[in-house]
Amino acid sequence: MNSKGINHYLEAAKRSAEWHQNHIKQMKKCRFDTISVHGIYSMQEALDFNQGSIIEPVYMSTSQSYRDSDEMEAALSYQIPTWCYSRIANPTIYYLEGVLALLESYGSDVEASCVATASGMAAIQTAVDPFLLPDTRDPSKPINFVATTKLYGGTFQQFAIRKDQERHIEWRKVVNSNEIDEWESKIDENTRFLYGEMPSNPGQAFFDLQKVINLGEKYGIPVIIDSTVATPALMRPLAMGADIVVQSVSKTLFTSGFGIAGAVIARKNLRSNIDNPDMKADFCWYAKTLPNRDNGPNLSPMNSILALNDIRTLRTRVDVQSRSTMTIAKYLSQHKHVEQVDYLGLESHPLHDIASKYLWLVDSEHDEQYQKRVNRFGHLMSFNIKGGASATRNVFDGLQRIWRATDLGRIKSVATIPAISTHSQQGEEGRKLAQIPPNLIRLCVGAEHPDDIIADLDQALSVLDGKKIINTAPEYSAGGSSSATLRRK
Ligand SMILES: *Cc1c(COP(=O)(O)O)cnc(C)c1O
Repeated sequence: MNSKGINHYLEAAKRSAEWHQNHIKQMKKCRFDTISVHGIYSMQEALDFNQGSIIEPVYMSTSQSYRDSDEMEAALSYQIPTWCYSRIANPTIYYLEGVLALLESYGSDVEASCVATASGMAAIQTAVDPFLLPDTRDPSKPINFVATTKLYGGTFQQFAIRKDQERHIEWRKVVNSNEIDEWESKIDENTRFLYGEMPSNPGQAFFDLQKVINLGEKYGIPVIIDSTVATPALMRPLAMGADIVVQSVSKTLFTSGFGIAGAVIARKNLRSNIDNPDMKADFCWYAKTLPNRDNGPNLSPMNSILALNDIRTLRTRVDVQSRSTMTIAKYLSQHKHVEQVDYLGLESHPLHDIASKYLWLVDSEHDEQYQKRVNRFGHLMSFNIKGGASATRNVFDGLQRIWRATDLGRIKSVATIPAISTHSQQGEEGRKLAQIPPNLIRLCVGAEHPDDIIADLDQALSVLDGKKIINTAPEYSAGGSSSATLRRK
């Protein structure tokens, strides 16, 4: 058999890359909903490679075979598109990465790429670790990063324990993130990045992102934003000049709750004081093909397609859930057993004005129903119960429709007490920093009718009037046949 030669494959790869880039360019012209529905998967690709399958195919295969040794060589040196091994790349994961890159850069000319990971925590590690290398000239030089303290509990632990305590990489804490001077006072020539979560989970901290981006520009360091709570339906930090966005895809994007996933979306040619041109040129490609290849935090193709499928309805879901959350927040605000309601959408919230500057329902001006830009504030809110920790537990235990769980972004309403769940590991001090009191209930509003959520809250709060709620459970599971086993007591 005559060898075709490696050039044969390189030429074919070049033609394909042009075709794909052109297709992505066409998709970039579409509205947000169209991109969410189609992503980067095309009819042409379906007909040529996937038996016409209108839905993105799930490649449940660890690896790919090659036509000959030339193709294998070109593939394994990353010179042609390949998914040699699913820890590194896989077509189904590629479709998820493609749609997220387009959605996070929507409405701008930012060129972004994405690397999907097995969880949001893995995404955070993927996003920050390439910047936390020792100084090449003086490896003994201490390095630091500047990050807000109002963070998801897992992020707090990753920063405080895995980086600061175990690796002696100093976490310089920004406590009042909306005070721009506090950010700037922590930056020096050994600062590797600026990191913030907005709105934060569960505290809904919010800051003037544009000012933090200006600091990143001034000091030549990347700005990394965890935008899980907002999602690209409400805010797209890359378009404003941030360098990297982290998504816990597990949450609002993957609303069905079928799995855990994460993603890093980064602009091409980002800022960094690390001398690594490849990393700066295309951060996600770099992370995917080098550190993540070696560390192995990749997503599974099955979780990719499940997440991808939920993303198709992102904008309309976020709109409905945001509107319901507003209705519920207003209801709770006037309830006699509620001490305080925190929702960025309420005018009484101290960060309402700054949040209103950034949180807009994407494409609302092109929506027949609105025909103008409208603010939406997402599905995350919290409220404090009068009477302390035990009263709070009693109300929480009285919930019947709202699920008691530590979850967020579900299509179903879910509530938790952060002090005893998501933020239990970080101790009293850490909770004080993150402002998590024991009488705080976090509520993530789903897509049920808000009247039914209000009715559930109403009956649960009535325990504080002395009403007894008995949560009974049936003896048998509804799905059981006649041989169902008796529920263990
Ligand atoms: C849940 C969450 C994470 C972590 O994501 P996982 O997918 O659970 O690993 C990070 N940031 C925020 C804001 C989150 O809510």
